Amino acid sequence: MQQFESLTASSLYCDKCRQAMPVRERLLLILPDKEIFDYLCTGCGASVGQREVTSGEKMMSKTAARRRHHRPVHSLLP
Ligand SMILES: [Zn+2]
Repeated sequence: MQQFESLTASSLYCDKCRQAMPVRERLLLILPDKEIFDYLCTGCGASVGQREVTSGEKMMSKTAARRRHHRPVHSLLP
């Protein structure tokens, strides 16, 4: 758990602390197609940001590969 936190931890500007503060990531909401994380200031505990992580990132890459196989996207290729 600590390794996960160190990997995802970052600093965001906190309005209450009026400076960039290290934040703690907390899983806020789980939806069928995505998860929403809340970033909490470690100084005052206020929410300073949110992040949406779509569980379909791998699926999207699969879809893109399938689409590329089905119809070449020459505009995206050199
Ligand atoms: Zn703060």
